[in-house]
Amino acid sequence: MSAAVASPLASNAALDVARVRADFPILTREVYNKPLVYLDSAASAQKPRVVIDAESRVYEEEYANVHRGVHYLSQVATDKFEATRKRIQTFLNAGDENEIVFVRGGTEGINLVAQSWGRANLKEGDEILISELEHHANIVPWHLLAAERGLVVKGIPIHDDGQIDMEAYKGLLNERTKMVALTQMSNALGIITPAAEMIALAHDAGARVMLDGCQAVSHSTVDVQALDCDFYVFSGHKIYGPTGIGALYGKAELLEAMPPWQGGGEMIARVSLEKSTYKGVPHRFEAGTPAIAQTIALKSALDYVTDLGLDRIAEHEAMLLNYATERLNAMGGITIYGTNSAKASIVSFTMDGVHPHDIGTIVDRDGVAVRVGHHCAQPVMQRYDIAATVRASFAVYNTLEEVDALVASLQGVKEMFA
Ligand code: PLP
Repeated sequence: MSAAVASPLASNAALDVARVRADFPILTREVYNKPLVYLDSAASAQKPRVVIDAESRVYEEEYANVHRGVHYLSQVATDKFEATRKRIQTFLNAGDENEIVFVRGGTEGINLVAQSWGRANLKEGDEILISELEHHANIVPWHLLAAERGLVVKGIPIHDDGQIDMEAYKGLLNERTKMVALTQMSNALGIITPAAEMIALAHDAGARVMLDGCQAVSHSTVDVQALDCDFYVFSGHKIYGPTGIGALYGKAELLEAMPPWQGGGEMIARVSLEKSTYKGVPHRFEAGTPAIAQTIALKSALDYVTDLGLDRIAEHEAMLLNYATERLNAMGGITIYGTNSAKASIVSFTMDGVHPHDIGTIVDRDGVAVRVGHHCAQPVMQRYDIAATVRASFAVYNTLEEVDALVASLQGVKEMFA
């Protein structure tokens, strides 16, 4: 919803989840003749009508390629496309819209930082710190770079409760540390890391910090200037927006000193057969035709969560998480991973004697969609010496009754394997 059309939900009242649910058409559907209980928003969130409409409207009324045309539609599309950049700037409280680079998602943003900033700034023997909580998207790009450049990737351990071991982190920082690549919120456990404190410590040691905000961005307000992170990435699809679009924030002085990482149309100043010169930032990093309709619709997603209020969303999700945690603990035979209190919207667990994949398959027949597996975070699984967990993740549209449905279905699994 745009600021001009005030949402009826924009007040200080608690979130009206029934009204929110009415915004998400998919939530009315059934699976296996049961109401859909969608508890997999950490993998990808469902889309509200305003986002679906915004994307269709582009194709029905506003579509043309961006930045290239002098014709009317191209200018309309370009203005709308660039309006999303401006919206992301205010959403993240970046100082300048040119600090926002459009990417396909968090994965591409991290690869951009690793390959462009990393290649330009890192040399043999330099160290990169990543935590045990990272998603593979914030591990593998650094391994690729390390293999190419002779870098050393070191892991920041976590405590048994899933939180970063700050003493170990301080002990790892040294003059060779050049990059700390850290998740703001773990997708496998839901743990929220002490990012601001870790960034300050990294800066004291002379290192840069890239924050992976893919999970955190839909659960709390982000202020990249207050955090003082050097880079920040997120994916649109995890914040109720389309797939295929995300953003990289980078401090202007860093982006300006970084070379392009992909070549092609749109990112050049001039090309001859012998030589290319490049545009300034952010366009230098945006080669080729972008995800035009998806980028335009991402603005609607950011407006939507802003209208609802991220604080109210977080409060609602915390209520669901606390209730789910209590009920799962009360069941017996359940082990929850990630018990530190700094946590949001995700409960990750195993059940004695039952493989997580069996649990996922059985509860699915009751209409309950959960994620099972290593959640693209194998080092976390290794830390707890397990192969997989069941992960239920809560979003703005989930209800206490859906938590009850999950628990009832799990109870059935328990009885089946008793
Ligand atoms: N980082 C975290 C913490 C994630 O949860 C994910 C996706 O699950 C990613 C990065 C990668 O995001 P994407 O697949 O949208 O690029």
